[in-house]
Amino acid sequence: MTSASRSEALEAPASTPASRSAALEAIAAEVRACTRCRLHAGRTHAVPGEGHPDTEVVFVGEGPGLNEDRQGRPFVGRAGDLLVRFLATIGWRREEVFITNVVKCRPPDNRDPEPDEVAACLPYLQRQLQALDPALVVTLGRHSMGRFIPGARITQAHGTVHPVDPATGAGSALVYAMFHPAAALRAPDVERQSYDDAAGIPAALLEARRRRVATAATAATGAATGEARPEQAAAPEAFPAPPPPDASPVDTALDAPTFF
Ligand code: SF4
Repeated sequence: MTSASRSEALEAPASTPASRSAALEAIAAEVRACTRCRLHAGRTHAVPGEGHPDTEVVFVGEGPGLNEDRQGRPFVGRAGDLLVRFLATIGWRREEVFITNVVKCRPPDNRDPEPDEVAACLPYLQRQLQALDPALVVTLGRHSMGRFIPGARITQAHGTVHPVDPATGAGSALVYAMFHPAAALRAPDVERQSYDDAAGIPAALLEARRRRVATAATAATGAATGEARPEQAAAPEAFPAPPPPDASPVDTALDAPTFF
């Protein structure tokens, strides 16, 4: 998940860690001053999101809760503690990923965000994803999942990967659905399933990397021969077959990911 592994997988990264940091901070500054929807009136702090600017994995929740509103940081309450435990089971730390929400200000009494509030706030998430260009988006809860896998049911989609509509801002990513950690806190069954789903995140990342490598290779071949346009190669419905494990040095790297 380092910039080195990003460079191995994609020969010409579209941006640098410094430029991604600058873009993310500019978005965060806009969020902190935002009055686009009614949620700004009740917030203590807006919660733009935080994490590593060079990560390959972005976690997207629904919206800030009480603790997040107080601190201006995402997933810092009990649900955040559980998310950290999920990550720990696969050897990851929250500092290694980027964590944000669909809406950046707390809905009153933790109600669901209204459609017009989501619509007002979505451009910030879209720009964050464009800046980060993640390989994998992990959705936390049905509201977040609905942005990336329209029509899916969380009880069926959790623990599975899906292509992403480029309109979300993460066009070359796969999305992996999980329950919201707050739901796992309320139901032992959901918590157990969430640990199983967390165990599947590294495999989802490897699949996402393979897809990006294969898509880039197909696009490069098509550009050289004129047989396929890059946008055809990048069609989200296309799932190229994984390359054989010993086909190239890149493939070897994919089988041994490093996480900072
Ligand atoms: S929820 Fe989003 S759109 Fe609404 S005020 Fe906060 S930052 Fe702005």
